[in-house]
Amino acid sequence: MKMITTILVFLVGFGTPETSYSQPLTPIEQWEGKTILLVAAHPDDDYQSHGTLALLNNNKNKIFILTLTTGNVGTRDPKMNKNDLSKIRRQEQIEAMKVLGLSEQQYINLGYDDGRVEFADKEEIIGKIVYYIRKIKPDVLMSFDPGFNYAVWHKSDHRAAAYLTADAVRAAEWRLMYEGQIIHQNLNAYSVPEFLFYGGNIKDKNFEVDISEYLDKKILAGSKYLSQWSSGWNNYLGSDLNDYPAGEKDSLFNRLKKRIKYQNNIPVERFRYYKGIPDGMGREKRD
Ligand SMILES: [Zn+2]
Repeated sequence: MKMITTILVFLVGFGTPETSYSQPLTPIEQWEGKTILLVAAHPDDDYQSHGTLALLNNNKNKIFILTLTTGNVGTRDPKMNKNDLSKIRRQEQIEAMKVLGLSEQQYINLGYDDGRVEFADKEEIIGKIVYYIRKIKPDVLMSFDPGFNYAVWHKSDHRAAAYLTADAVRAAEWRLMYEGQIIHQNLNAYSVPEFLFYGGNIKDKNFEVDISEYLDKKILAGSKYLSQWSSGWNNYLGSDLNDYPAGEKDSLFNRLKKRIKYQNNIPVERFRYYKGIPDGMGREKRD
């Protein structure tokens, strides 16, 4: 199927007068040579953008995924412990990224405990995100949507990630914030020019990406998260799907296929795009 980015801003029921209508000047499938930093709370939060990431990677954009926590709490398996789960989820993340064409060098994990980002030292965690923004200098930053004209409710860790990332973007551009990075670590203040927000309300999303050509990669990458989306959630049996009960493979792939969003029978991923200063990322112009 021909790859297109479908712009649906003014369709009935999609978008509101309050929504930011800024759009990428160049359609996403034509992006080339951009550096993209996706900030997430857990290993697998990037899954909802995997089709877009595979597309961007295929078109010679450089992608980095920065995850705040190790994901070391996400299990219902009574035999699992935090250290093992931390290692398992790192490996799952790396395997999923490999399917998308990304290497381990493109994965950064800040090592915070799963479920406790809101209790972490905000100044410290924002400083770490600022460090990577200044080091990577992304042309586009992808993040949980902090909301547009109101705060979006996300579950724990996700809502913290949304706001910490927004605050870090703002701090990164001020040379006297986290100035030690500039004085001692050879970094410069940096302003992120463009944003793709995922995970927000559908009515706030202002464009979508046709992922038809990358659907198989998205589903295959999703199948690497066995500790999360298979019976491994309750009873982890290792990283090889063949070691799981009969029928596991079919049920996992069916579950992943059911999660795909469609618009006019085209598989899509939806985002809120924003271009401009960080102060305006979450609100329309005010008097
Ligand atoms: Zn998550």
